[in-house]
This record gives sequence, C-alpha cells and structure tokens, in this order.
Amino acid sequence: MYKFLPTGKNIRRMQTQPTSAEWLLKDPRTRKWMQQCAGCQRWGSRHDAPSDFFGRAHLEKYFEALKVDERGICEQCRTVLS
Ligand SMILES: [Zn+2]
Repeated sequence: MYKFLPTGKNIRRMQTQPTSAEWLLKDPRTRKWMQQCAGCQRWGSRHDAPSDFFGRAHLEKYFEALKVDERGICEQCRTVLS
C-alpha cells in the first residue's frame, strides 16, 4: 500500500522555486535584458532595460547593472586593459 502523505523532505523539494541566477539566464524573458562582459565573463543587467518587465525584481537581486562598450567590455575591464 502506498502512502501519499508527503514527508517534510518531499514538501521542501516540491517548493523549490526557480529563483537562482541560473534561472534568470535560462528564461528568455529575463535573459534578453542581461548581458555578459567579454573580458571578465560577468553577467549583469542591461542599463537600457525597461523599468518594468517580467523578472526585473529577481534580475536586480542577483545581478548588478553592467554597462559594456561597443566591444562588449565592462567598465571594470576597460580600466584594467587601458
Ligand atoms: Zn568585464
């Protein structure tokens, strides 16, 4: 006979929400407002992202705004390279 009452362990597994930074990268709705520096490979939110879009709160929680130049290099790398 099977028991369908979930244990505490099962409940925790079921409630796992996709709130990680990885999830933001996988979801095209947030991915399109993110960009990666070609130098340090850091990910950040685009500075021209609209003030309201799906997942914005999450994006701001996990990523800083990343400003890259036309070569795709962030300000931090530009300082190092120059
Ligand atoms: Zn960089």
